[in-house]
Amino acid sequence: MAKQPKQYRDIHEWLIGEEIKNEKGDPIEFDSHPFLFDIYADQAKYLTIMKAAQVGLSTASILKNHFDAKKYELDIIYTLPTDGDVRTFVGGKVNRIIANNLSMLDDVADKDSIEQKQIGKSMEYFRGTWTKKAAIMVTADRLVHDEKDSSKLDVIADYQARLQHSKHKQTHTFSHPSLPETGVHADWLASDQKHWFVKCPSCKHWQFLSWNTEDPNQMSIDLERRAFVCKKCREILPEYVRRNGQWVAKYKDKPISGYWVPLLIAPWMTAGALIDKFRHPDTTPEFWWTKVLGLPYADGSSKLLRKSFFQNLTGKQWAPPKDERVVIGVDTGLRIDYVVGNTKGLFHHGDAEDYSALDLLMERWPRAIAMLDGGGDILRTRAFKEKWPGRVFLCYLTGDRKKNEMVTFGTGDEASAATADRNRMIQLVVDEYRTNRIPVHGTEEQWFEYWLDWNNLSKMKVLDPDTNVVKGYKWVRNGRDHRALATVFWRVGMRRFAGTGSIVQSETEVRPTSYMIDPNQTVSFDPDEMFIKGVNKTLDELEESDDWRNV
Ligand SMILES: [Zn+2]
Repeated sequence: MAKQPKQYRDIHEWLIGEEIKNEKGDPIEFDSHPFLFDIYADQAKYLTIMKAAQVGLSTASILKNHFDAKKYELDIIYTLPTDGDVRTFVGGKVNRIIANNLSMLDDVADKDSIEQKQIGKSMEYFRGTWTKKAAIMVTADRLVHDEKDSSKLDVIADYQARLQHSKHKQTHTFSHPSLPETGVHADWLASDQKHWFVKCPSCKHWQFLSWNTEDPNQMSIDLERRAFVCKKCREILPEYVRRNGQWVAKYKDKPISGYWVPLLIAPWMTAGALIDKFRHPDTTPEFWWTKVLGLPYADGSSKLLRKSFFQNLTGKQWAPPKDERVVIGVDTGLRIDYVVGNTKGLFHHGDAEDYSALDLLMERWPRAIAMLDGGGDILRTRAFKEKWPGRVFLCYLTGDRKKNEMVTFGTGDEASAATADRNRMIQLVVDEYRTNRIPVHGTEEQWFEYWLDWNNLSKMKVLDPDTNVVKGYKWVRNGRDHRALATVFWRVGMRRFAGTGSIVQSETEVRPTSYMIDPNQTVSFDPDEMFIKGVNKTLDELEESDDWRNV
């Protein structure tokens, strides 16, 4: 049965030589998927593909992994969001492709199961990321994270350790994007950012295909003529033009090989079909942006965007007089991070190795109170509390407490302790920043580092591991978030101790809360203007009574 396998130099030779077919039994061809040709052959150690839905990448990935596993003897871990996704993917796609190709069938051994396959001398393991099962402990030469942005990102981060003992250490990620600078979009930003370029036969201008209803120079589709057009001369682009495109990297020296695959570049999608999809009443801006254009979409309530935070800056240094009540919010750990503010806003932030920095603040403002993270450094917070009787409080952050108060303060012996709902408190502060309600005294330069900590927090959907149904939302971090949490502790303190002095009223009106970021990181137009039905998000969890200036 085991015939001597032919040695192929590359995957394209193999696809042709073995007449490889897809799961439907159709031969793999590149007439309708010309943009996949280079992706199949790409041997970059780190490969990332930010893509629209349904562009043929799963099939490409299955075949690529099979060929590379065998030829280069790579052990591969392939992750999908859930265990259910793994069953559908392996049962419905991987197994069907293998069944349609005798040469592939020869490569896989009898150990074949949904969760693992032997391919020649190598193993390929399939795992869900939202699984309740323990993480797989085997080593691998290549990690493939399919649908990364629907996966559990901290689990994906943990998988990097599986590559430790490999000489290959490859990571492939692909997904439709979700939020800016999160998941696959973060990978894309670090990559060489390949765009699919086409050449206008009329004016010979090379350009990539893009969509922007506000700016004709950035719009590759003519809505009236229902046709792809040149962004320069506006002549109609014949069908073959998109087929004859080629990948062009924006940053040639970046080590990560990145591709942006919007549906615009798929030859089977006509301009008319795209316009109909765009105008369909069920097409939300998020769907259009992430699943059709393959670009991240932020509605501003899912992330503290840079402009949402910086609009709060006063541009001037300021500190309250000594006799005013101030609240110090402190995130504790090996180092401590703190923010200081009162009813007139935040005016200072910093970090320190020991508590003497906090002692200085407590001395300077004799009515200052400190709200410390109770779940961090237990010994030193206790000592600090004893040093400043009646002025130090510990706050414990908890998971979802939907039925209870957002913040609960203890009574009696527990009077110096508070419990707060972590997700709802983070949401509250983000919403207050984006509606310009917390003055921040100082300049961009002084607060940029502070904002970076917020930028590491994103609101993600929490999926049920079995059904993939959205169970709720959670703020997750993908880097240090200490000053953001210090602000949450400050905000808990403000809820209780905000004074009754003068109150600053914001005079700036609420700015648009939605915008998108193009692959080149420029900000595009506001989707609220693009969609008649409007998508202005309400401040979902902002409670009127919780405005800290009204405490
Ligand atoms: Zn032209």
